[in-house]
Amino acid sequence: MQLPDAAFLTDLMSESLNSPPQGKPRVRFAPSPTGFLHVGSARTFILNWLYARRNGGTMILRLDDTDVERNTDASVNSIFEGLKWLGLSWDEEYKQSERGELHRQMAETIFQKGLAYRDFTPAHAGDSERSGAQGTWLFNPGMRELSRAESDRRAAAGEPFALRFRVPREGGVVRFTDAVYGEQMKAGADIEDFALLRSDGMPMYHLASCADDADLRISHIIRGQDHLSNTYKHVLIFEAAGFTPPQFAHLPLLVAPDGTKLSKRRHGPVVSVTTYRDAGFLPEAFINFLCLLGWSPKNDREQMSRQELIDAFSLEGINRANAVVNFKEATSQPVVIPTLSEEKGRNLLSSPEDTFDPKALWLNAEHIRGLAIEDLSQRLLPIVQGAGFNVLPERMLRITPLIRERIKLLRDVLTAADFFFVDQLPPYDPAELIPQKGDAAMALKVLQRAKEVLANVEFKHDPLDQGLRAAAQELGIKAGQMFQPIRVAVCGRKNAPPLFETLEVLGRETTLARIEQAIQKAG
Ligand code: GLU
Repeated sequence: MQLPDAAFLTDLMSESLNSPPQGKPRVRFAPSPTGFLHVGSARTFILNWLYARRNGGTMILRLDDTDVERNTDASVNSIFEGLKWLGLSWDEEYKQSERGELHRQMAETIFQKGLAYRDFTPAHAGDSERSGAQGTWLFNPGMRELSRAESDRRAAAGEPFALRFRVPREGGVVRFTDAVYGEQMKAGADIEDFALLRSDGMPMYHLASCADDADLRISHIIRGQDHLSNTYKHVLIFEAAGFTPPQFAHLPLLVAPDGTKLSKRRHGPVVSVTTYRDAGFLPEAFINFLCLLGWSPKNDREQMSRQELIDAFSLEGINRANAVVNFKEATSQPVVIPTLSEEKGRNLLSSPEDTFDPKALWLNAEHIRGLAIEDLSQRLLPIVQGAGFNVLPERMLRITPLIRERIKLLRDVLTAADFFFVDQLPPYDPAELIPQKGDAAMALKVLQRAKEVLANVEFKHDPLDQGLRAAAQELGIKAGQMFQPIRVAVCGRKNAPPLFETLEVLGRETTLARIEQAIQKAG
């Protein structure tokens, strides 16, 4: 049976279609495991997840792993590793490669309705006949017109064929409403007779995706805007197979500052989720950042917890404009994170400001400030220990409040608090020891007096404060002039956490040893 083209859609509409379930949404993240977990894919997961969690729905992870030549285990691992780091969960999990039978059944249904045809054109010849006689997208017009009897005869004789969708021509129009991009419409004449099955019987992406979405009763397909143009074909497949298409919501593209689509080849590691993990982003901050790429919450707040994101999420807040990830293109080379033994805790990232979007860094710093000290301390400890320092949890707990306001990335702990971890300070310029409006002689005097005071005073904030202020008075200098040489002596630099708290944590022995070293330098 073959339906006349013009009647195609009308006939379909008069059939009773299987509707997706009413009520709780079922959404899916369907990555093809052909690379690492891209930030755009992570955002797609998260926005689906927010939608499911907001509406009491079901989150499904489906690996679109039918492309055996391009799939890798490393890629599957990278997807799971990235999602695990982000602490994102799902309720059901499927592998498309295990569902081939279901895909073929859907192809058979469509074929039996006359809405697909066998194409016996040898694979290599198909491409050259891409455009048909009337300028329509026919791969091989002769095949579309082949009678069913002739088609059956050639198939029975064992001739290989691909199965192509018979796209309605002449007046046929495919429509759908996208929750983000609105009404979409395309003439059937502008859609090629796309393949459902390859000549080796393997299902093609469009078929497999729709068969799974229908079988898994997906209610909303939320995915990247690059799939918007595929959706016409998907609508055709759903309807041909007797299903009402799900709702579609396409997400704006993530682009680099120059407007090009973010890609690993072009933009390097800034595109990969693990780069953010390794650089010391908090998963909750990174999720927060990703959500804001293309979605504007009604409340206009930017820093939000996971629960706040869930509560605020709606598809209406998704924008159409491309979302720009800001970074300096020139420095988007692989981010080198050397081990501490090579770098002694300095210059771990050549410049996070150049590598990462300023908003991502700002959000991360805000989320860090919002963490309880115990929580932050526990997250910092493995980084410090991993860099080769033997720091005990109790000590880390005391250091953490001193640097919490001073770090944007967790790994910044290695530069912000390095002087707590090392036995020997890295070399510093003795000129740093000279106080403001003072000279080398004043620096030396301060350090010598400090050595005496600090040999006796109790190593607690108030006694340290009182003792050193009194010493400044005796020397006839300002308190700040007293503190600076001491700070540089114990930290190796001027820009450091509050002095008395720092001394308390360092303790008398280390403090006196470092002051003695500074005296040698200044003398
Ligand atoms: N496997 C497809 C991709 O990774 C899925 C697209 C879709 O969500 O339908 O692009």
